[in-house]
Amino acid sequence: MNVIKQTATEAFDPLRYREDFPLLTRRVHGKPLIYFDNANTAQKPQSVIDAVDRFYRESNANVSRAVHTLGEEATAAYEAARDKLAGFVNASSRDEIVLTSGTTQATNLVAYSYALPRLKPGDEILVTTMEHHANIVPWQLVCERTGAKLSVAPITQRGELIVDEFIARLNPRVKLAAVTHVSNVLGTINPIAELARATRKHGIPLLVDGSQAAPHLPIDVQALGCDFYALTGHKLFGPTGTGALWARHELLESMPPFFGGGEMIKSVSFEKTVFADPPHRFEAGTPNIAGFVGLGAALDYVQSIGRDRICAYERELLDYATAALELVPGLRRFGEAAHKAAVISFLIDGAHAHDLATLLDQEGVAVRSGHHCAHPLMRFYGVPATLRASLAFYNTRDEVDRFVAAITRVRKLLA
Ligand code: PMP
Repeated sequence: MNVIKQTATEAFDPLRYREDFPLLTRRVHGKPLIYFDNANTAQKPQSVIDAVDRFYRESNANVSRAVHTLGEEATAAYEAARDKLAGFVNASSRDEIVLTSGTTQATNLVAYSYALPRLKPGDEILVTTMEHHANIVPWQLVCERTGAKLSVAPITQRGELIVDEFIARLNPRVKLAAVTHVSNVLGTINPIAELARATRKHGIPLLVDGSQAAPHLPIDVQALGCDFYALTGHKLFGPTGTGALWARHELLESMPPFFGGGEMIKSVSFEKTVFADPPHRFEAGTPNIAGFVGLGAALDYVQSIGRDRICAYERELLDYATAALELVPGLRRFGEAAHKAAVISFLIDGAHAHDLATLLDQEGVAVRSGHHCAHPLMRFYGVPATLRASLAFYNTRDEVDRFVAAITRVRKLLA
């Protein structure tokens, strides 16, 4: 296991890290697996699997309620994940981290607890054309209830947000802006710090969907200057059903609970319930304790490699893969932003995305085909679906070469 933090200058050797991921040794349809579906969910290193296993073997108990040793161990392990998340995003306090089941729960929490009580008819929530449904539908639901509406900042054909158009849409009716840090379809890295300076000038809070950024970029919420930051554990090499919402403490203080139940109260009587302070106010019921223990191990693992190194290596791999795919005849790419994470969406003339993905699976290649939970973006490009290859630091140039060779083979079958 690679627990010693690497220095920035040391050459990045993906093969060294691959050894930490048992699933990557699998064969699929008799071929070595090429896992290029990391934007959907990432594989888990042995240290994460061990942490979850160890928790159930040695420390399993519920959090917060028990004073016995196991209860204390479970609570400490669960709360350690909060500390690690606070460090991971550079929060100014651990109390700014709400543990959620993922980004979807985090955006819904902000929609129902922050936005809903503030919205009135004619108000707006500003999003962009490239958002995932998890950063569209929760806002629509609260808009429907209140008579507010969505305002949408456009993008260019290259898949870059038109920042001037975003800024032009900031006005007193906008009660919240919600923008993805990295597009799950295009890979575009949005200029969050610039957007946050603009929203701040207008006194509008900015929520950032960090699902696709957290596994690939160093995240510093204080430097970004945003107000809410949502992330997902399962894309970050941690267990499914884990994630977090970071929010400025004063915003969390101003928000009523979203779910009610145990764990989120100071006292309950039939006449009046007094809620716990944030972040526990937003964590009703028994959480995914083992999952968060695993997420803590995943954060340690990622930090031990170093996010600057991951980011630099993935950029090189992206450039290599992009150049290799350019040579495939009839291939159309979606997303050509100057600042991109390692996601490549594409179509090949005359071949349906699902047919290609199915044939690629026969070659041992896992890529996603479909609308990627981004119907409005698909509509913008006038296509029903794309194929998406999304890379991680454990992917290699050799896999890219075999992937391109597989595309060339299956393309002939569809011609
Ligand atoms: N936003 C983006 C950009 C995503 O890619 C995803 C996952 N595909 C989500 C939100 C939803 O995250 P979760 O899986 O945590 O619900």
